[in-house]
Amino acid sequence: NANLLRMSQTDGLTGVDNRRHAEERLTEMFEHATRLAEPLAVVMVDVDHFKSVNDTFGHQAGDAVLKQFAEILQTEAREIDRVGRYGGEEFMVLLPGTVLDAAVTFAERVRAAAEAHTFEFAGGEIRRTVSCGVAAWPHPRVETCEALIKAADDALYVAKESGRNRVIRFDSREFNEHTQSEHDGSERDADVTARAVQPEWGDRAPRGPDLGPPPRA
Ligand code: GH3
Ligand code: MG
Ligand code: MG
Repeated sequence: NANLLRMSQTDGLTGVDNRRHAEERLTEMFEHATRLAEPLAVVMVDVDHFKSVNDTFGHQAGDAVLKQFAEILQTEAREIDRVGRYGGEEFMVLLPGTVLDAAVTFAERVRAAAEAHTFEFAGGEIRRTVSCGVAAWPHPRVETCEALIKAADDALYVAKESGRNRVIRFDSREFNEHTQSEHDGSERDADVTARAVQPEWGDRAPRGPDLGPPPRA
């Protein structure tokens, strides 16, 4: 019946969509978006230094933080958005009809709300921040559903690497500079010429001599 179905789609701790259901929703939304040429954004959010909540105050305190953070996400999301729990302390928010810039604004609101929140649990309270990675379709490098998740996930990774408590947009200048410098590592000397032609322009490189540089992301 309807109750059993809902339970099979819901994360028991936080009440948001579980991972399997979140992925099903994303598949549906992606098909819908591409068919109707409507934008679709994905925000991946991960609680910063969450393990230390468990280590310091115990697993139940950690659970309380997760529940409260899921509530923050639900509060910031619109009716048509979907919040899912993607892993232990990692959440995925699906934003249909939302372009990349607007999704960044949403993520920034989530980041600020988490930063301002005091998480309370039996026997104490704690502050925590979150990191966000944002991606959206349509985008020249996002042609499949899988690529959309990976883009958001890669951006989340850059947010973590560049200090946490941050929102990083896929294909932004900072994203590309960070991803680029990771790849460089071993070829720092040999690759000077290649990098002199501004790799961060990617496929937006000027098409003719008179176009000038593309607008910075
Ligand atoms: P980072 O800032 O890099 O994200 O560090 P982190 O400590 O948040 O991330 P890490 O992946 O090292 O640790 C995540 C921890 O989340 C480890 C795991 O024990 C805990 N965890 C996963 N699921 C649950 C849960 O349902 N409840 C509780 N209390 N803890 C959980
Ligand atoms: Mg974490
Ligand atoms: Mg994590």
